[in-house]
Amino acid sequence: MIPNISNEEMRAALKELEQASYNHEQWAELLNSTLICRLPPDRRDIGDDAHRLCRFGQWYYNAAGVAFENNPGFVEIGIEHQHMHQAAAHLLRSAVDGAPILMEDYERFVSALKRLRLEIATAQHELKDALYNLDPLTGTPSRIGMLTRLREEQELVKRKVHPCVIVMMDLDHFKVVNDTYGHLVGDKVLASVAGYVMGHLRPYDKVFRFGGEEFLIYLPDTDLQTGYNVIDRLRAELGAMPHEAESEGVFHVTTSFGLTLLDPDIPVELSIDRADKALYAAKAGGRNRTALWEASMNAAPNKPGTSA
Ligand code: GH3
Ligand code: MG
Ligand code: MG
Repeated sequence: MIPNISNEEMRAALKELEQASYNHEQWAELLNSTLICRLPPDRRDIGDDAHRLCRFGQWYYNAAGVAFENNPGFVEIGIEHQHMHQAAAHLLRSAVDGAPILMEDYERFVSALKRLRLEIATAQHELKDALYNLDPLTGTPSRIGMLTRLREEQELVKRKVHPCVIVMMDLDHFKVVNDTYGHLVGDKVLASVAGYVMGHLRPYDKVFRFGGEEFLIYLPDTDLQTGYNVIDRLRAELGAMPHEAESEGVFHVTTSFGLTLLDPDIPVELSIDRADKALYAAKAGGRNRTALWEASMNAAPNKPGTSA
């Protein structure tokens, strides 16, 4: 929902949204005193374009930045804001005409205002979530919150709602990529690979940046064989994906994967450890491969630095 923008842009967007919503609350208070005390209304609030003329509307239609582009929640804010102004204009016209203000008209205004507040609060929540929980380079959730999600998923597995596959993923010889093409190109590769993975799984599959060039993926409602097929196809696609370095032209980067079922009877950390052991086996087997965890792997060490 939130586009891939820098943390500074995200912070600026949050501040703007807070200011805009504060301005709007002030406007709503003024509207109430205008109605209750029968003050002369601001003419701009009576017209059909009232939603464009209030301070919030000026921000929404002219100054809202890149953080909100193509955001469905932002579109909803616009719709609710316009509804609310239409309801408010109707109340003000009744007041100007000396007509009684009907309860149902006032309720229409109040419920539009409440819906607008909910939409604004949701947009703020999404921005904060993106700011604090998404890894800025790859756009994947950081590992904060990962264990919580996995424990929730494990509860479903325990109740036999569905099985769940967890996967550790690690780019092959990534140090060589950095050493050959430079760290900035390495960053671009990491972002493209993560973007590809997120874009080619189902919307409810989750990808977390586990650390460095390692990611943890979980696939809910998936048995081991299906999980293997999905991940191994992804592995082949990633290996064929072209990357570009200005001076050196096109190159390819392969990826290794370790898979296991999320076990309902052991702590989730141990299931992660199993996926990690399988990843180690994939690396030891020559890289660019997908390995399933087997009990015999427990005797083997983890890949250095990848243990949960
Ligand atoms: P292997 O196939 O065994 O996984 O080899 P590797 O070189 O990928 O493994 P290793 O763990 O030794 O090195 C990982 C490298 O990833 C080292 C580190 O500099 C690089 N790396 C980690 N995070 C980032 C990042 O955010 N950007 C870039 N450009 N490099 C990163
Ligand atoms: Mg690696
Ligand atoms: Mg690594």
